[in-house]
Amino acid sequence: MITVQDVSKVYSLESGDFYALKNNNIHIQKGEFVAIMGPSGSGKSTLLQLLGGLDLPTSGEIIVDGVHLHELNEKELTHFRRTKLGFVFQNYQLLPMMTVGENIALSLSANNASKTEIKKTVQQLISDVNLEGKESQFPSQLSGGQQQRVAIARALAMKPKLILADEPTGNLDQKNGEDILKLLSKLNKEEQITIVMVTHDLQAAQVADRIITVRDGLIVEEGRKGGFKHET
Ligand code: ADP
Ligand code: ADP
Repeated sequence: MITVQDVSKVYSLESGDFYALKNNNIHIQKGEFVAIMGPSGSGKSTLLQLLGGLDLPTSGEIIVDGVHLHELNEKELTHFRRTKLGFVFQNYQLLPMMTVGENIALSLSANNASKTEIKKTVQQLISDVNLEGKESQFPSQLSGGQQQRVAIARALAMKPKLILADEPTGNLDQKNGEDILKLLSKLNKEEQITIVMVTHDLQAAQVADRIITVRDGLIVEEGRKGGFKHET
């Protein structure tokens, strides 16, 4: 599903070039659930942004679902992001002046879906994430966990094969965090959606099939779940 080939990301600072990512290679299979861990500032968000075509690498290639991202122009990148993948962020990033239903419908409207189609899809998504009755409420009227479920429903609207999640449980308490992880797991297992999730939380990372650890812009460890435990 994802191939990252010799990818570096360099930011030019007054003090000189800064490598946020240095020559990394990753392969992620269709249907995998991968957690990306590492200290703050190690390059995790940068990596996720590159995978989602929100930014381009300084060198190297990224291929997502057969699409070579560097071959796309701005317009094609926007279309790629809207149709191929869903983003989930730590702070939900819902539009505050729009209702739950309108937030979920955003990419459908942008892609010219019909009113009937939008209505049907939004109803289905609201029920998928257990938010029945909340369609006309505004994000500020919901708890953090509920807002994150709206964000996940929005991410699912275009039926993406890939979800990129940046600290999806970072602002949630234990219980709500677990619910979000269960929902992501379910989407991964039942809908075969590939998930790449940045997290600081080792417990959250345990739901993944594989943990990739990034340190100072370098992937330093890749292990199957449980691979970090000492074997006796
Ligand atoms: P993480 O997600 O692991 O906390 P980031 O990917 O956000 O790390 O950042 C990696 C490093 O790159 C940090 O040192 C950060 O300050 C730097 N960085 C990120 N984005 C930019 C940018 N747009 N301009 C300059 N430096 C940046
Ligand atoms: P996270 O908490 O997910 O690691 P950050 O707060 O590090 O995210 O970064 C949020 C956004 O700010 C990202 O888009 C990142 O590229 C950008 N950013 C991070 N560090 C810098 C920096 N030193 N200069 C400019 N932009 C940065």
